Amino acid sequence: MKILVLNSGSSSLKFKLYEMPSKKVLAQGLVERIGEERSLIHLRYDGPTYESSEPVHDHRHALEILEKIFPRFGILPSFKELGGVGHRVVHGGESFTAPTLIDATVRSAIEALIPLAPLHNPANLMGIDAFTALAPETPQVAVFDTAFHQSMSPEAYHYAVPDSWYREWKVRRYGFHGTSHFYVSRELARLKDTPLEGLNCITLHLGNGASVCAVRGGKSIETSMGLTPLEGLVMGTRSGDLDPGVHYYIHRCTGKSPEEIDRILNKESGLKGIAGSNDMRVIQHRMEQGDESAKLAFDLFVHRLRKYVGAYAVLLDRLDALVFTGGIGEHSAPVRQALCKGLTALGIELDLAANEAVRTDARPVHSAESRSELWVIPTDEEGVIAEECYRLVEENVKG
Ligand code: AMP
Repeated sequence: MKILVLNSGSSSLKFKLYEMPSKKVLAQGLVERIGEERSLIHLRYDGPTYESSEPVHDHRHALEILEKIFPRFGILPSFKELGGVGHRVVHGGESFTAPTLIDATVRSAIEALIPLAPLHNPANLMGIDAFTALAPETPQVAVFDTAFHQSMSPEAYHYAVPDSWYREWKVRRYGFHGTSHFYVSRELARLKDTPLEGLNCITLHLGNGASVCAVRGGKSIETSMGLTPLEGLVMGTRSGDLDPGVHYYIHRCTGKSPEEIDRILNKESGLKGIAGSNDMRVIQHRMEQGDESAKLAFDLFVHRLRKYVGAYAVLLDRLDALVFTGGIGEHSAPVRQALCKGLTALGIELDLAANEAVRTDARPVHSAESRSELWVIPTDEEGVIAEECYRLVEENVKG
């Protein structure tokens, strides 16, 4: 069965076509700058890479172009051949605790959650609506970034604010990157050949967006992002945790509007705010040259991370493993080393040679003496979406 995975942004559409259940990737790519004068289409498949620059008016137009290109390269004769389409949907609120087949009710529920994710959910819906218009009979599945964290207990997900904010406005902690935290914790159990139910781990998704998750027996019990992805770790351009009093203080000092302050905290803060770049490779390189602001950004990133790991180790009681994933988690040996240097109180010890080895596969990086294991596991969110879509189609649609 062929499954298409779509990740729709406001002006972009990422796609990956799988043969299931083998999870063989048949094609993948990106349509970007949708709605601009010249949009870009990139396609990789079992043949020469295809790139084109042409106007793409909207997401439906992007899919129409893909449906024309796929047969030309022998990838797929028509969208009608698809067994299902899996969509990444950012916010599932309290309505969705698991991947879900999309029907009119589910679509409305995703729409109703727009106030909680005003940038992401409308873009995700554009992908869903565009595909529905082209192939209405094809089953579609939504996989939510928030769903994995719905297992958090009330004391973990509530903020200490007036209860009416929760009851009337759904102000609570939701957490994001759930598909990634779920995948790497499950992979850890598979690689260790241990039942997931008996495993306690902390998963560190460290990319441009970054979050930590405490996973007990395969269930998220705490995570660092909150109502929005702004809470928690220092990120590429997001501040992470901040005294809420800073908003009003900066408003009084500068006269900036709440919208502008929110934009700055999301887009101009984090590593970029401190060092002018959101790219950890640039930060590391400049730090080696003696750049003070790069060193501060790096140290701040690691310090915040260490606080979270310490706190989550306490919540879990017993820590079997720490898992690194995301662009920084998978590739930055300096970040892993700096973090682990500060975790000796937990008996955590890195194998320095294993940490330095340049590899792209899943691998352990702890020393023989380490009390908890340390793993680098590349994440695969699209793979999970393809699996979940395949599973739901097999269970509910076929036969
Ligand atoms: P992601 O959002 O998961 O794609 O991760 C993006 C982040 O990973 C950026 O901050 C990159 O600088 C960082 N990154 C990618 N490769 C490396 C590397 N080799 N060393 C350090 N950071 C890296």
